[in-house]
Amino acid sequence: MSTLAEVREQALVCTRCALAGGRTQVVFGVGNPDAELMFVGEGPGQQEDLRGEPFVGRSGQFLDRLVLDEMGLTRSDFYVANTVKCRPPGNRDPLPDEVAACSPWLDQQLELVDPSVVVTLGNFASKLLLRTTEGITRLRGRAYPFRRGVLIPTFHPAAVLRGGGETAAQMRADLVRAKRHLRAGTPQVVA
Ligand code: URA
Repeated sequence: MSTLAEVREQALVCTRCALAGGRTQVVFGVGNPDAELMFVGEGPGQQEDLRGEPFVGRSGQFLDRLVLDEMGLTRSDFYVANTVKCRPPGNRDPLPDEVAACSPWLDQQLELVDPSVVVTLGNFASKLLLRTTEGITRLRGRAYPFRRGVLIPTFHPAAVLRGGGETAAQMRADLVRAKRHLRAGTPQVVA
């Protein structure tokens, strides 16, 4: 089996979909490769495309703050990756064939990091990993059995920045839920 570093090297030269043509660089994922907690976002924005790191722009700073507030964790405590590893032009939504082409990279990250708690941020990651067409507003608010632990869907931080107070409170509650599952160690038994 490959290591995460080896998979990253392969992903950095990926040309499996048209997004490869418009990227500055592949944004593979960062953080603790042995983390129990993994966040999965949508796709790189402009800042991420330039820096090669997920969630370094405004929504990333907001995410870091909520995770610190509600879970007491910082970047070195978790792993973070996106559904698609290359920036969609003009920050448009990733297309279904782009998500499908990129998903083997995410599958390998999940396999190798092997977190017990996965928090999906927004519709794209949540729908892909839960294999559903249900939207995030209906999906969030509970934990789903996933791999060896649970998946907790929540809003994308950019949507919370736009949506304001109530969505922020809901996202904070989802992060508290994630923390409870991390603490429990036997994730499925916690509500
Ligand atoms: N939004 C995402 O979904 N991912 C990033 O890395 C940045 C913004």
